[in-house]
Amino acid sequence: METKQFKAESKRLLEMMIHSIYTHKEIFLRELISNASDAIDKLYFKSLTDDKVGLNKDDFAIWISADKDSRILKISDNGIGMTAEELENNLGTIANSGSLKFKTENKLEEDNQIIGQFGVGFYSAFMVAKKVTVISKAYGSDKAYQWESEGVDGYTITEADKKNAGTEIILELLDDTDDEQYTDFLDQYRIKGLIKKYSDYIRFPVKMEVTHSRPKEVPEEEKDENKAPEYEEYIEIETLNSMVPLWKKSKSELKEEDYKHFYVEKFYDYNEPLRYAHVKNEGTAAYNALLYIPSKAPFDFYSKEYEKGLQLYSNGVLIMDKCGDLLPDYFSFVKGLVDSEDLSLNISREMLQHDRQLKVIAKSIEKTITSELKKMLKNEREKYEEFWKAFGLQLKYGIYSDYGMNKEKLQDLLMFTSSNENKLVTLDEYVTGMREEQKFIYYATGESAARIEQLPQTELVKENGFEILYLTDNIDEFAVKTLMKYKDKEFKSVSADDLGLENNEKKEEIKAKEEENSDMLKAMSDALDGKVSKVILSQRLKSHPVCLTSEGSISLEMEKVLNSMPGDQKVKAQRVLELNPEHAVFEKLRELNASGDNDKLGKYANLLYNQALLIEGLSVENPVEFSNLICDLM
Ligand code: ADP
Repeated sequence: METKQFKAESKRLLEMMIHSIYTHKEIFLRELISNASDAIDKLYFKSLTDDKVGLNKDDFAIWISADKDSRILKISDNGIGMTAEELENNLGTIANSGSLKFKTENKLEEDNQIIGQFGVGFYSAFMVAKKVTVISKAYGSDKAYQWESEGVDGYTITEADKKNAGTEIILELLDDTDDEQYTDFLDQYRIKGLIKKYSDYIRFPVKMEVTHSRPKEVPEEEKDENKAPEYEEYIEIETLNSMVPLWKKSKSELKEEDYKHFYVEKFYDYNEPLRYAHVKNEGTAAYNALLYIPSKAPFDFYSKEYEKGLQLYSNGVLIMDKCGDLLPDYFSFVKGLVDSEDLSLNISREMLQHDRQLKVIAKSIEKTITSELKKMLKNEREKYEEFWKAFGLQLKYGIYSDYGMNKEKLQDLLMFTSSNENKLVTLDEYVTGMREEQKFIYYATGESAARIEQLPQTELVKENGFEILYLTDNIDEFAVKTLMKYKDKEFKSVSADDLGLENNEKKEEIKAKEEENSDMLKAMSDALDGKVSKVILSQRLKSHPVCLTSEGSISLEMEKVLNSMPGDQKVKAQRVLELNPEHAVFEKLRELNASGDNDKLGKYANLLYNQALLIEGLSVENPVEFSNLICDLM
């Protein structure tokens, strides 16, 4: 008989399981029972439309048996079963090996996180068993097969005998050690406790033969009051789980822990959710839903691999694992499930997309999520900021995408870093804190708050005591431009030509100065040879000699973002070089101009332009020329 090797990643995982220091070894039972339940789900689903299955809902069950003498724990189901090929593919490899590789190469996370995050449930059996045997017969097949393994050395698959479709998992438990009493897992009370704890909501009965004892019946004439009663054992088949799905229970009988526990188990997230909502909706779209806001973004959240969606049940039967149509893209982080009695069971994926009922449910769910987020923002600020750090980007994309169609809905959920103490503020908070004389919502862009703080363009706005929003994500300025206004206040970049701060006197003064120096400004602009559309005198600069701004609809930041995207079309912002007329450098320029040294004036113009580029976080166009220029002037 040929012994097959596990695929590399599976082997690695298996090793981790075997040498696991994971304290919750008990979860193996939950994993195996969930698998059994999923397998039954599949066959039950088939039975609804296919009479050949020959089983009724009540016939489906998961059986547990434990034998202390042989140290064998058995979990059996009459679900869909596995063919030889499926045994090979499902138990010899890990479906999600790509993601596992990602994780393990990036430092071994705590093993319990890995257990939770990937489809590694079955392997957890090796945390408690020295030998695992799986006997399975696929529905519709006339042959059964046996998969057997004692760990990393590999596994065998042979033909086996089994009457009905389904799967039997046989664990030969490890010997007890000082730290771990594996024998406990054979104890009926322990097993009952574990089922209640982890698998109570499993929709099919988990049954076990439970041994009870009772006082022995004694015939009347033999009764003796002085003798202690004798007991006898008897066996009873018990269903260990209540089978009512959590979401169908009444809210009053559930505690916060129940919801959180359910989330951690069901959605393989080791981190507790930030918030949950249990929705019971009556009326046109009657449904129950459990919605969760995770606290951390999954590692693949901002990649193409991430698939949004909620589990969809029709009256307790799972019909789709990730129904994407239930969530708008901007709420793609939400996890949870929806159960509706009004959905047809044998509806195809394609039909589902057009299902009117589903659309109504999706709308209602979106409303719930929005209101839950608003409640969190209002009542649990710290949590909301945690949420924002994990998923804020997604909401900002939501503002920008679909031509701003959803901006009204989302704008009150936004947060930006403020120039006031670098803390996060909402737009509402910003507007509420605006000075009476302040006309605009000011923002500045850059790669980090620290970087933006250094920008010369922020000087005038700050001097007026106005708050500035620091936009540090690529999407931010696009989102702000999509919003255009918030509560009738227009957004204004600190680089904009009209900041609305200029007092008229000053304006006139600058204008006069510009006219006075027009030949110098023209000479500088000529020397810059198309790099800027004009050189002007600035009102916004206080301590810095120069800065770069832009006119027209494309800002410097947008130019950076757009040009970093794939594609050949490059855009260019129309740059404006602003000079600070109060700065000593300005006097120097005037002197040069007066002396008629146009060559040197041109060099100064180039030097200042490059300096402005650097401050702006843009790269110097020609570093060699720049460095030569400096030496030249030194
Ligand atoms: P996951 O359940 O997360 O997919 P597992 O390692 O627990 O990962 O199981 C791998 C696969 O093996 C399952 O997806 C399923 O296809 C199959 N499987 C496991 N247990 C059973 C079972 N009792 N009956 C039928 N198929 C099963």
